[in-house]
Amino acid sequence: MIIILLGPPGAGKGTQATRIMSKNGLVQLSTGDMLRAAVAAETEVGKKAKEFMEAGKLVTDEIVIGIIADRIEEEDCKDGFLLDGFPRTVAQAEALDQLLKDKDLKVDAVVEMKVEDESLVDRITGRYTCANCNQGYHDTNLKPQKADVCDSCGSTNFNRRSDDNRETVVSRLATYHAQTAPLLPFYSAQGVLRTIDGMADIDDVTVQINDVLDKL
Ligand code: ADP
Ligand code: ADP
Ligand code: ZN
Repeated sequence: MIIILLGPPGAGKGTQATRIMSKNGLVQLSTGDMLRAAVAAETEVGKKAKEFMEAGKLVTDEIVIGIIADRIEEEDCKDGFLLDGFPRTVAQAEALDQLLKDKDLKVDAVVEMKVEDESLVDRITGRYTCANCNQGYHDTNLKPQKADVCDSCGSTNFNRRSDDNRETVVSRLATYHAQTAPLLPFYSAQGVLRTIDGMADIDDVTVQINDVLDKL
């Protein structure tokens, strides 16, 4: 099964991807996570990507398509995968279709997580993750059960992304509307688009996504 989670920054793609992954055994492919790892490791890709990411702009199609093309060749992707944050442009979607076609595969469903822009700013500026296991949290919406201790691994170290500030968020939302929203008619024309209410609470969103997946 090949599933795409599509939605603006802060829509809850990463949060839901983790949940769907554990329920359905699909691997999560997050281009954002892969790019952040490349930046941290100061690889060639990381050096090229850094500036774009800090400005809230998209990294070039060539870079992200290359990353995904390599990643889906790996053994753990052979039974399917869940894409989180890719594709983000029509050119990326067309490249993905071609990569899949070469393997006699296709996208099974694109789940659009619809969330209003005002909520996205709050979600992004309140977001943080466990520095050890990457579990996601939020200052008000999703706190660890014991203050400052990760529910999943017990770590007391947390990270905030350098691009999760108010100014960059505005730029990332504009980028989403200009460059990524055109994917909605693109996938609608393919008959694979399913839209869910991403404004609902986290558990309810999971139920809605599982409903979509169960019907495939
Ligand atoms: P994305 O991967 O789409 O950028 P995240 O999954 O990182 O988004 O979610 C952004 C922030 O919003 C996180 O801090 C997360 O805990 C919180 N969040 C996710 N889904 C919801 C929801 N349905 N309601 C409220 N807060 C949410
Ligand atoms: P969010 O869901 O909060 O927007 P991501 O972690 O998916 O964040 O992405 C962070 C940044 O990484 C983006 O703002 C962009 O610069 C870059 N990026 C991630 N995925 C892509 C992609 N498919 N195409 C281009 N740039 C990307
Ligand atoms: Zn943890």
